[in-house]
Amino acid sequence: MTIILSFFLLHWFSSVFAQTFFLHRYGAHRMFSLTPFWERFWHLFTIVAQGPSFLHPRGYAILHRMHHAYSDTEKDPHSPHHARGFLDMMWQTKERYDSYAYGRTAPPREFDLPAPSWPAVDRLAQSWVFRVLAGSVYVVFYLFFVPEGQWGWYLLLPVHWLMGPIHGAIVNWGGHMYGYVNYKNTKDRSRNTLPVDFLTMGELFQNNHHGRGTSPNFASRWFEIDPAYQLMRLMQALGMLRLERSH
Ligand SMILES: [Zn+2]
Ligand SMILES: [Zn+2]
Repeated sequence: MTIILSFFLLHWFSSVFAQTFFLHRYGAHRMFSLTPFWERFWHLFTIVAQGPSFLHPRGYAILHRMHHAYSDTEKDPHSPHHARGFLDMMWQTKERYDSYAYGRTAPPREFDLPAPSWPAVDRLAQSWVFRVLAGSVYVVFYLFFVPEGQWGWYLLLPVHWLMGPIHGAIVNWGGHMYGYVNYKNTKDRSRNTLPVDFLTMGELFQNNHHGRGTSPNFASRWFEIDPAYQLMRLMQALGMLRLERSH
C-alpha cells in the first residue's frame, strides 16, 4: 500500500511541477530563462512526468494566454462560469487545446508567441502509440505492487492516465470559484484557494497570479507560500535558471 501511495504522490507532484514550472511559468509566461540544455531537460521531464497526458507546450501556452486575456468571459477557453459543470469545462478545454496542439486550427496571432518547441519529440509524445505505452507502465507497476485483494487501488489508474488535464481542471475550476481575493483590480472572478494549494504547488493562488501576472511568485501575503517559486529560487542559486524579474 505504501509503495502504491508513494508512486501515486510521486507522479502527482512531478506532473504538477512540470505543469506549473515548465508549461505555465516558463512556456506561457517566460518568467525565467533557461539555457538550451535545461530547456530540453525540462521538456523531457514534462513528457516523462505527464506520460500519456503530456500537454504540448505551444498548445498549452496559446490556451493559457487566451485565458489571461479573456478570463471568465465567453471567450475564456476554460471558465467555470461559462460551463455546465466540471466535466463540461474539461471537455471544452480539450476541444480548444486539441485544435491548437495538433495544428487543426490556426490560433489568433497575438497569442502564438514563442514557446518551447521540439517538433520531432512532441510529435512522438503526442502519438497514440506513446500514450498507450506510457499508460501501460502504470498498469504494470500496479500489477506488481498492489497487495492481493486490494482492488480499490486500480481506481487510481484513470487519474494517472489523465494527470495533466486533471491538474489543469482543478486549478481552472477551484482557482476561479473558491477562496479569497487579494487583488480586487482583476476583471475576472479569480480566487486564492489556499487550503488545498499545496496540492498544486502554487497554482491555486489564481487571484494573486491574475492580479500581478508578471510575478514568478504566486504568493503575496505573509501566510501564503508558493512551493514552486521556492524551488525556482533554489535553482537560481544553483545556476539552473535565471529569474527575469525579482519580487
Ligand atoms: Zn498564467
Ligand atoms: Zn486563471
